[in-house]
Amino acid sequence: MAKAARRLAETGHRLTRKGREVDVRVMPIPGSDDGGHALLFGHVTDGALVRIHSRCLYGDVLQSDDCDCGPELEKSMDLIQAAGRGVLVYLEQEGRGAGLVNKARGLRTSEQLGVDTFDSYERLGLSVDMRSYRLAAEALVTLGLRSVRLLTNNPDKVRAVREHGIAVTVVPLVTRPRNDRARRYLEAKRRRRGHMLPLELVTVRTRRAGHWRGWLLPLSRRSRRLRLRLP
Ligand SMILES: [Zn+2]
Repeated sequence: MAKAARRLAETGHRLTRKGREVDVRVMPIPGSDDGGHALLFGHVTDGALVRIHSRCLYGDVLQSDDCDCGPELEKSMDLIQAAGRGVLVYLEQEGRGAGLVNKARGLRTSEQLGVDTFDSYERLGLSVDMRSYRLAAEALVTLGLRSVRLLTNNPDKVRAVREHGIAVTVVPLVTRPRNDRARRYLEAKRRRRGHMLPLELVTVRTRRAGHWRGWLLPLSRRSRRLRLRLP
């Protein structure tokens, strides 16, 4: 344990993001399928903000508008940085654990058949979501955390962390879809995987001015309302 703590300390350095510095340390999470890294920002103690994020090359790196991964990651980091502490668990789970090639095949099938990516995966003989968050939760246990504020809309992540004896306060991540494709993806996640998303956020709307106004303005009020319905 002392060796692990020393190795963690040896990774400590400063990271500058959006013009502000934050201390970061890096802990590996070994695992061929559901592993990755835990990035510890600042002095992490109970009640820290935690984001468990599955790798999405398109969203995280290429800033694709077609899913919410990029905005979720950016917002999580904004909140962690504003708090001055927190944990980003970044898991190498591209394409809901199916890998980038299968993700691309799924997206192609979706385009060709007009179905969501969950249906595409099923048609390709793939599990719709093969991710496990066990290793992520175990990493939080290793860090000695007994309570966290989890930045997520995904009930599977909440369940996994709680099953490891860590008290979870859910902090919903409300990000605005940037196009109808992203909105349809959010709707599919809500419908197929039970993601805790406000219905009005995932409804594909026409671009009539009134609709957009009605959707954009009450976002903060709606996210407060959403918080009340969460576990
Ligand atoms: Zn994505």
